[in-house]
Amino acid sequence: MSRNQFRSPSRRHFIAAGAALTTLPLVPKGAYAAEPYRFSHGAFEITVLSDGFIMLPASIILPDTAPDERPAILKRLGGTADSAPFHVNIPLIRAANDLILVDNGSGDKFQASAGKLASNLALAGVDPASITKVVFTHVHPDHAGGTILPDGRLLCPNAQYFVGDAEWQFWTDPNYDKTMPAALHDFARGAQRDLSAVKERLTRVKPGHEIVSGMRVIETRGHTPGHVSYELAGGDGLIIAGDVSASNIVFFEHPDWHFGFDTEPEIALRSRQAFLDRVAAEKTKVLGYHWVYPGVGYAERKGTAYRFVAA
Ligand SMILES: [Zn+2]
Repeated sequence: MSRNQFRSPSRRHFIAAGAALTTLPLVPKGAYAAEPYRFSHGAFEITVLSDGFIMLPASIILPDTAPDERPAILKRLGGTADSAPFHVNIPLIRAANDLILVDNGSGDKFQASAGKLASNLALAGVDPASITKVVFTHVHPDHAGGTILPDGRLLCPNAQYFVGDAEWQFWTDPNYDKTMPAALHDFARGAQRDLSAVKERLTRVKPGHEIVSGMRVIETRGHTPGHVSYELAGGDGLIIAGDVSASNIVFFEHPDWHFGFDTEPEIALRSRQAFLDRVAAEKTKVLGYHWVYPGVGYAERKGTAYRFVAA
């Protein structure tokens, strides 16, 4: 792989992201929603559960932004002078006889401000054993780190699991320590841990594949090489976006700015711009994993950029 194929967040960024949990300045409003946000879409009943939030440094959120412009943007995100919280919104979808979770949060594998999914499922009266499918947008630790409980059991012991075929191919490379930049090694080890825990019940999917009737995999590659989103039929559509646009503020208003955790930076930009262009034109409802809780709304065109309008 060529050097410029991947943006390599430095080791420092990961340490900064991990260290933030010891000095959390604030709890973003809504990130621990006691009353989960519920809505219906076509044949689907959706509950957005919070996994808490993660703190990201400015170098990851705003790598393209001049240092003197960063504090004002971080403040709008509810952050400090050098970091900001990204909420973690996990949709639980009731579809006929299936109960489907899209991603499963951080568990105890990333930052202590996240990993609240299990307790929020309990608050919502949902037994994780009743979840029939867990579908991944990608397998970064804040999306798949909740797979295995601290005691080694699976959070969702009766579920079938689904991951993008390209995502599986990328992260399970046995030679990752030679083919990937060092900054991705922790992510690769985490992905291999979480995917191997469910390998007996794992289906690799490709864009176009249906998870259940009316829920289709769509390609949104770039944040990771196998990142996918999920489109639900009904009305003008609903897309569960994952991290194709990691912020409903920064990357809606600046769709040409890079996000520091995008593995394939230029492909990620093209995917994000195509996504925003399409959902704005078609008035598709969108749900974003790290958007301000519950992260459900619309993209409205505003000049050459977009504005997020909450549902
Ligand atoms: Zn994420």
